[in-house]
Amino acid sequence: MSVSPKIQLQQLVDLQKIDDQISEHKRTLDDIPRQLDSALSELEEKKRVLKVVTEEIAALQKQLKDLELEVQGENDHMAKVKTKLPAVKTNKEYTAILTEVDAIKEKVSKVEDKELEVMEVLEEKAKEIPGIEKKCKEEDAYFNEYRQKKEVEEKRSKEELEELVVKRKNLSDQLETVILKRYQKISDSREGRAVAGLQGDICQGCFQHVLPQMVIEIKMGEKIHQCASCLSFLFWDEVPETSVPK
Ligand SMILES: [Zn+2]
Repeated sequence: MSVSPKIQLQQLVDLQKIDDQISEHKRTLDDIPRQLDSALSELEEKKRVLKVVTEEIAALQKQLKDLELEVQGENDHMAKVKTKLPAVKTNKEYTAILTEVDAIKEKVSKVEDKELEVMEVLEEKAKEIPGIEKKCKEEDAYFNEYRQKKEVEEKRSKEELEELVVKRKNLSDQLETVILKRYQKISDSREGRAVAGLQGDICQGCFQHVLPQMVIEIKMGEKIHQCASCLSFLFWDEVPETSVPK
């Protein structure tokens, strides 16, 4: 059974179309995990703010606790110093104890000032939390929506790819083995492109001129030709006339 060159060429053109679609789907399927990864790191980066502020608050709480302990320690110290008072015998001793008590009081007062300062900062920091949490929730929701969209896209692309593979198999079975092998070889060496249109006398695969005799034969579609430069199978690709504006 011999198939006319015209039909064979049409089959090659169709095969190229299917292969183009297959490549497109493969690219999409390759891209999706990358897109999801990058969206996830963006999400984590945004959520890092919450972690940072939470850690800052924890550090301030720790500082406050330390200051409280310090005050407690100084007060204990002061009480101990005061216990010496009843046993005092000289004025000098008495004055020395009072000086020591005053010094402790001053220290306590300073630490308490610091405590107030820290409490104020802590209060301000704590106020930031609800806003940040709300933003994180929104980002989470946005990411989940994006992921679902991508999962749907992935599923659809996989299904379409399966259909295309079946289509390709059916079409390949109709092609002559020699032609199919040649197509595959060119396709493999030219990043999936084995068929090119001929516009005027220019091959659209490599933009080289094609011999006039060949152009005529390709135009008539009675012979299968390959470009002498890039080996693409050539089909007549009528350049649509540009519409003349009225
Ligand atoms: Zn070419």
